[in-house]
Amino acid sequence: MSRIRILSEHLANQIAAGEVVERPASVVKELLENSLDAGADRVDIQVEGGGTRLVRIVDNGIGMDGDDVLLSLERHATSKLTDESQLGAIATLGFRGEALPSIGSVSRMTILSRIREAATGTRADIRYGILHGVHEDGCARGTIIEVRSLFGNLPARKKFLKTIRTELSHIDEVIRSQSLAHQLVAFSLQVEGRKVFSFPAADLEQRVRDVFRYQDTLLPVQAAIDGEDGLQVSGYLLLPDAAPSSRLRILVNSRPVQDRMIRHAVMEGLQGFLMKGHQPAGALLLEVAPELVDVNVHPAKREIRFRNAGEVHRFMVRAVARAIQQHQNQVRSELFSVPEQGAAVATGPGSNPFADNQPRQPAHQQTVPMEPETDPPTPRTMEPAADVFPYDEPVRPQPIVSQPEKQAEFSGLTLIGQFLQLYLLCERDGQLVVIDQHAAHERILYQRLRHGYEQREIPSQSLMFPVTIELGPDHAETLEKEIEAVAALGIQVEYFGDTTWVIKAVPALVSQLSPQDVLTDILDGLRNRSSTGLSGVVPECIDTLLASMACKAAIKAGNRLQPEEMVELLKQMENSQVFSHCPHGRPVIKTFSRQEIGKWFHRT
Ligand code: ADP
Ligand code: MG
Repeated sequence: MSRIRILSEHLANQIAAGEVVERPASVVKELLENSLDAGADRVDIQVEGGGTRLVRIVDNGIGMDGDDVLLSLERHATSKLTDESQLGAIATLGFRGEALPSIGSVSRMTILSRIREAATGTRADIRYGILHGVHEDGCARGTIIEVRSLFGNLPARKKFLKTIRTELSHIDEVIRSQSLAHQLVAFSLQVEGRKVFSFPAADLEQRVRDVFRYQDTLLPVQAAIDGEDGLQVSGYLLLPDAAPSSRLRILVNSRPVQDRMIRHAVMEGLQGFLMKGHQPAGALLLEVAPELVDVNVHPAKREIRFRNAGEVHRFMVRAVARAIQQHQNQVRSELFSVPEQGAAVATGPGSNPFADNQPRQPAHQQTVPMEPETDPPTPRTMEPAADVFPYDEPVRPQPIVSQPEKQAEFSGLTLIGQFLQLYLLCERDGQLVVIDQHAAHERILYQRLRHGYEQREIPSQSLMFPVTIELGPDHAETLEKEIEAVAALGIQVEYFGDTTWVIKAVPALVSQLSPQDVLTDILDGLRNRSSTGLSGVVPECIDTLLASMACKAAIKAGNRLQPEEMVELLKQMENSQVFSHCPHGRPVIKTFSRQEIGKWFHRT
């Protein structure tokens, strides 16, 4: 007798369940996808016991008739794929026809469903893979699926589940992230009979606010490439400093995915804007021609594969960088535009060359201090930066707010004074604007250094003793391909023989580092560089160096500023391409509205 046997249907379902139904959240995910595929515009989910006691999902989608209810329980039964040609371009969330039979094989499941045309619905009870009865039953149009005693027949699997709290947080995440792609669908979640959230039908912005519980500024991301690739992204990023514990949710063709490539692109687009150790946060919805993305890589469809990953990466870096630039322009116009019927201002609208609020290159290129050690940073009237934090100074009688004799103004901002020798206090349109002088100046200097770097105006320094370096094939290939770019970065390398190269000069900026490290870092940067040409991405180590140089050269906390100096700082902020955050991602400006301040004093 042959030893090889075909698995029973029952066993095959249980094996499939091992892949598809990992934990209660997978049940929620599969059932939710079915409801959305069925065109529901309202989906309500109830959970008990972390999802193992009960998952109940009610939708108002197209429903199933009696035959379909039974068919839906068969393995590889789906209404979503009819022939092989569709597999290359999947447009629904489900397609494998595995979910219902898999879930049914590891739980006690009830399906109750009705189509619009039918007077009554159909109810089917399945117990651990065995159909226990089908009968007519009344119900509203749509489908109700109840899953009880999940893994009741698989004690080993149940043991692997984490605490109820962890399982609930996975369930919560599944619904939140999926809800981002379906803003017109209302979602609600109840746990042990208590409402956790209820998202009404909304637009994307409102849905993002609901999902992230976020009220602050959102940075819209919107970009598209026409043509056959049909790449498109829309979404919102949260201000990096406003929601430190939020995460980035990525959806590709309405499917929440974990994609390191896109994540990486977002971080790259946020370079010099994200606080060290902080994660980007927000929701990005990509649309790609279905044939250019493979979603059938993972049974739970969490991962995907792009045919043209490089292009998608470049596209995303640019889209995110542009969102930030738009945000800068927006903040600039809110902060520096002269109010319509404002009081007399120092710089009238006619003398403001930047009133158009277009993105612009950093101004005053000729004053770019490439070597701030020798060339004192502007404004030149500032005292040499004493590296002392004001709280460390001996207490001496000094006004906390030093008020300028006559009120200085700039572009609609009236200077109130300097607070703690660290913050500029300004007033505009009934708002109090607080500016961190060090962070502000740090960003201005960083932008100039970066600009100089991108323009390849990098002074290089010859090494007294040239050093050799062994390059692996990847690095050697990059070096040969990018030899001009490498030279322009102020590093001089020559081929020596075999796998050996000689470094003869390094960028003066990094002359204190090991030349070998500098070269490999630059090569890594060039190899992974995605944005060709404009506003290229600066290699990580160089970026860190630029930021720390800017920090050292910037005015410090404790530097007392004269009114002219404060105005000069504001002017430079306005002229800086990016100014709202320091290069480490800390905010530069904080604004308090009249209402906000009124609330402190219970004035309503
Ligand atoms: P898939 O979603 O991959 O097709 P499933 O096992 O999840 O496989 O579902 C099988 C079929 O059952 C679906 O193709 C669909 O026709 C039907 N179905 C499942 N859930 C629903 C629902 N909530 N509303 C309407 N039809 C459903
Ligand atoms: Mg499905």
